[in-house]
Amino acid sequence: MKRPDYKRARAEAARLLKHYSIRSLPIDPEAIAESEGINVVYVEFNEKASKLISGLYDFNAQKIYVNKTLPSNRKTFTIAHELAHAILHQEYAESTDYRAMPRSNVHFDKPPEEKEADVFAACLLVPPSALKKYKDVASIEELSSMFAVSRDVVTAQMDFL
Ligand SMILES: [Zn+2]
Repeated sequence: MKRPDYKRARAEAARLLKHYSIRSLPIDPEAIAESEGINVVYVEFNEKASKLISGLYDFNAQKIYVNKTLPSNRKTFTIAHELAHAILHQEYAESTDYRAMPRSNVHFDKPPEEKEADVFAACLLVPPSALKKYKDVASIEELSSMFAVSRDVVTAQMDFL
């Protein structure tokens, strides 16, 4: 299995933020997706699917489907994660290897594309430059609400700085 290219995932997230001159927080990945021509649709999956899936990207339709019942932080992260597939992983998104984003992140043998998408999402929503600015003056709790992500995402980005 090929190794994830985190450098590229981080660079692409930074490129998008720069391209759209996004400076205000929290970052709205839905607006970025729409600007990229990707439609974000909130859906009510059937009961079984809803328990398992956060969201998915339909390559052919250029649509990101998000599970409507998720808490708002999770919706945001799901959109950012699926946007990564739209931008970085055309071949993967079209293939049978592609996986919908699970609700539970406890996963063994995640394909490298899934790991890259998580890193892209974290860098898009919690840009390292913005985190550097606030990390010494705000608590994890405050940062998590400032960036509208879970505390786990903030902590992971802290480790990366
Ligand atoms: Zn994914």
